[in-house]
Amino acid sequence: MKKKYESIISLGTKNSYPNSQNKKIRLLNTYCLIWGQIVLFFYSLEMIVGLVTETIKQRTITFDFFNLNPFFTYVFIISSLISILFLNKYFHFKWARFMFISTLIIVNIYASLITTPGCYIEYYFVLISPIAITLFEKKITSYFFLAISFLCFLTPYYFYVVYPPDYIDRLIILETACVFLVIHLLLNYFKANNLKFETLLELERDKVLSDKMILEKQESELRELSEFKSHFFINLSHEIRTPLTLIQGYTNQLELKKSDTENTQKVDIIKEQCQQMQNIINNIMDLSKMESKHFKLISTDVEIGSFLEKHFVNFQSLFSKKNIKFTFNNNTLKTTILIDQELFSKAITNLLSNALKFTPTNGTVSINTSFSNEGLKINVIDTGIGIQKEDNQTIFKRFYQVKNDITKSQGSGIGLAFTKSIVNAHEFSIDVESSFGKGSCFSIYIPNIYVKTITDKTLNTVITPKTNIIENLPKVTFKKNNKTILLVEDHKQMRDYLKKILNNYTITEAKNGKEALDIIKDNSFDLILTDYMMPVMDGESLVKQLKKEQNKTPIIVLTARSDQQGKLSMLRLGIDGYLQKPFMEEELLMNVKNSISLYKNVKEFDKVNTPEEVKNLNVYADKFNTKITTYINNNINSPLLTVDNIAEYMAVSRSTLNRKVKSILGQTVNQLIQEARLEKARNLRAEDPFATKKQIAEAVGITNTTYLFEKLKERYGI
Ligand code: ADP
Repeated sequence: MKKKYESIISLGTKNSYPNSQNKKIRLLNTYCLIWGQIVLFFYSLEMIVGLVTETIKQRTITFDFFNLNPFFTYVFIISSLISILFLNKYFHFKWARFMFISTLIIVNIYASLITTPGCYIEYYFVLISPIAITLFEKKITSYFFLAISFLCFLTPYYFYVVYPPDYIDRLIILETACVFLVIHLLLNYFKANNLKFETLLELERDKVLSDKMILEKQESELRELSEFKSHFFINLSHEIRTPLTLIQGYTNQLELKKSDTENTQKVDIIKEQCQQMQNIINNIMDLSKMESKHFKLISTDVEIGSFLEKHFVNFQSLFSKKNIKFTFNNNTLKTTILIDQELFSKAITNLLSNALKFTPTNGTVSINTSFSNEGLKINVIDTGIGIQKEDNQTIFKRFYQVKNDITKSQGSGIGLAFTKSIVNAHEFSIDVESSFGKGSCFSIYIPNIYVKTITDKTLNTVITPKTNIIENLPKVTFKKNNKTILLVEDHKQMRDYLKKILNNYTITEAKNGKEALDIIKDNSFDLILTDYMMPVMDGESLVKQLKKEQNKTPIIVLTARSDQQGKLSMLRLGIDGYLQKPFMEEELLMNVKNSISLYKNVKEFDKVNTPEEVKNLNVYADKFNTKITTYINNNINSPLLTVDNIAEYMAVSRSTLNRKVKSILGQTVNQLIQEARLEKARNLRAEDPFATKKQIAEAVGITNTTYLFEKLKERYGI
């Protein structure tokens, strides 16, 4: 109903009309509606009254509408009003208002002179001038209608006399004239005031509109600027990558030749700085990737306890190196949260890296989890240098760093901005509470809708959460087996964690390289899994010693981020695999499984010969091995490296070569070439993270890049 009224009232209005014009049109429509309703009401009333009287009089019901006195007047009014609305509808407002005023005058004259003379109907003429004031712009027009209406008022008294002459009181007529005039003047005054007010409002509105336009323009300029800035950083990062790759490549070469300690230190510093630059670039690229329109989280339910435990274990050695007490208090058993594991891991890593950086020696850092009414809370609390109150929010802005001795030499101010972006992308929130000089507490709040309690049924699948990377890996079945692994690791928690992952193998533990060597003297293993950094004897010395003793047990080394330099020298010693912490469980399991199965053949060969024979054969085999592997390595970039080439070089027939290689190395020649190519490709990836897939494929003499990377995935899980 309200809508219907509204649509009638706005008949004939247009957006292109000035406001004042639309207002007049709406007023005229409103007058028509009101008048129409009044007429209908009175008509119905009169009809009912007429009917009732007739019925009482004649005791019969007659519907004689035409006998009802004002019928024609009502019909005239209603049809005029409808015509006025139609005129408005078709945008003839000028005619419409003229018709309205004319109808008013005609109906009034008709009523006051003909239908109901002597009933003071002429007093209604007082309405004409106020209505004209509201419908006409010009003052003169309103005065004209004032004059007309007053003349009409006088008609029954002087021109078409309906009152007896002695009835006419001039004083009253004069008073009425005054009333006409006063009403007219008052309304004109209000109209002028209203107009003034409206003009002011209009001006104000124009100002607001122009301010809004300026703001919108500034906003779009800012957006453009920010896009430009983002693009600039991305382009710059891409540009920096190339020289950085070159610097890293040449530094690696320098490292090979380093002789005196002074140069060694310098090379190490260059490498460390390169690594830092690489991290900054990676963060910038990740951040801009997140800001892109196509960015999407790949979220899965992840068991929060194991997820944080992994980070706790990975950081433990770094904290203990700085003599910081590091603890993990998990109060959220059997709980999963919906996260993009890879990204969220970066957020937690950033918070822990900051805690490590800004907490002095002998401090404490802890990761705590707890429930609240709203959801789950993860706290990273440190007793570090703290943050001033005014910096509490700005530290989350890009490139913002609080000026102090630590930030002077380290960091870029991107870490927390990246962390906040990740947290917000998950629809979680992050804040910090800090006391300057005493410590900080960073809290991530995870709303209840993203938190689930797991039932025992789902627990197993959750501990090894699926990510898109894991999904892409070939599925490996890990059955309980009788294979043995020597686990060399100084941190008990890390050992426990690894044991948990490798629960299908029989594990023997050693706390450092020396303990491991003692155990190996009396036992043989299918695999040695060792940490790189350890007290008493580190991983590198352990590997060197084992190689010296010609121990062929496959070795996988675990390296922390800070051990990057050591990683390459380890690879050169000929280890079977390395894994950088934090690693994925599946990646570790894949490496372990492949290394053990490759080694199986070599071991079987050793088993069927006497120790003396094995020793003699070993000397021969070593020579043979060195010769063939050197040849393969020197020609590895050639796609033409074939069994025939090698047979020619080794001066034997193709079949003899195959037989010898099989008996000494437990592999066919083609497998040997393939293995060498895969290993070289893996090392190239480690040495130069920016090398393209095509470059790597060319460097190892494989033309089919996809094939190479499929094989790498199969072999090393990378
Ligand atoms: P960066 O660490 O690379 O400087 P971040 O964005 O990670 O950049 O941090 C921004 C700033 O916030 C840092 O420069 C530091 O001043 C402050 N900050 C971050 N974490 C801590 C912390 N745990 N204790 C004290 N200050 C911190």
